[in-house]
Amino acid sequence: MVAKKIDGRAFAEGLRGRIADHVARLKSEHGLTPGLAVIIVGHDPASQVYVNSKAKQTAEVGMNSFKYELPDDVSEDEVLALIEELNNRDDVNGILCQLPVPKHIDETKIINAISPAKDVDCFSPENVGKLAIGLPGPVSCTPLGSLMLLRDELGSLEGKNAVIIGRSNLVGKPMAALLLRDNCTVTVAHSRTKNLAEVCAQADIIVAAVGRPQMVKKEWIKEGATVIDVGINRIDAPEKGEGKTRLVGDVDYAGVTQNAAAVTPVPGGVGPMTIACLLANTITTTCLANGLTPPSDLTA
Ligand code: NDP
Repeated sequence: MVAKKIDGRAFAEGLRGRIADHVARLKSEHGLTPGLAVIIVGHDPASQVYVNSKAKQTAEVGMNSFKYELPDDVSEDEVLALIEELNNRDDVNGILCQLPVPKHIDETKIINAISPAKDVDCFSPENVGKLAIGLPGPVSCTPLGSLMLLRDELGSLEGKNAVIIGRSNLVGKPMAALLLRDNCTVTVAHSRTKNLAEVCAQADIIVAAVGRPQMVKKEWIKEGATVIDVGINRIDAPEKGEGKTRLVGDVDYAGVTQNAAAVTPVPGGVGPMTIACLLANTITTTCLANGLTPPSDLTA
């Protein structure tokens, strides 16, 4: 068997198209234009790239995009004051502060300062709690994107054995909550898990979110399993020339595709879904703030 390549880029493009339709409806039927504010502190080149693509895609779906670029030496109080101002603005429905922030700024304080009603990254304890008990609200972007790809590939996930490798607050834990909600039997593996290969061999679904290049091997994969590779790792690529690098996931793609039924590639799998889901969450928070039901195709 050679696995199908799950095309996250194409799915994300379709999702952004549906988001643009929802934005147009919110404008024409309710006079609402969703707005997303992005704060970046300092000049980290990777963060600049992320923030610029978030701002670009926000504008492309017809939302208002607000970008705040603050210098490296901005004080914590100034960042908190900006967040407070954005919390109080009616034209801002989502706020995110690109992480990491410089060391003199307390990340937890920043996360907690963003109003849960505008926390489109789903980092606040309130939204994490809502996700866990199934109340409406924003959903962690990368897990939401992974869930959408799984549902699209498999239809109902009910009764599937799902193994998530990684238990971070960003990916592993919210992914577990979402798959449990979809009636999977969920196992969460981590660095202390024993016999990981055997645990994975029971899985109909594997979600790898570890940060270790090509760790998940062909032999770990049950015939016909669906594999979602969240990992993004940069490794040396001498075949491309001296000093060159390339991106790989946490899954040994060439090997795993021999046993699995479908696998997300890196790049072009889960990655493109994350920003699209940020926009989906901005629709959700806009709807909830205005007494409207969020569109079911944009949330979990
Ligand atoms: P973290 O470093 O926060 O978490 C990694 C998890 O992997 C931890 O739970 C850790 O276990 C577990 N782990 C580490 N080593 C092993 C091992 N040998 N066996 C089993 N489990 C292990 O990472 P994130 O969750 O933030 O990110 C994971 C990957 O996903 C990274 O490559 C990141 O770049 C990528 N990512 C991609 C995104 C996208 O948009 N596609 C978005 C977010 C992340 P323990 O808890 O015991 O330490």
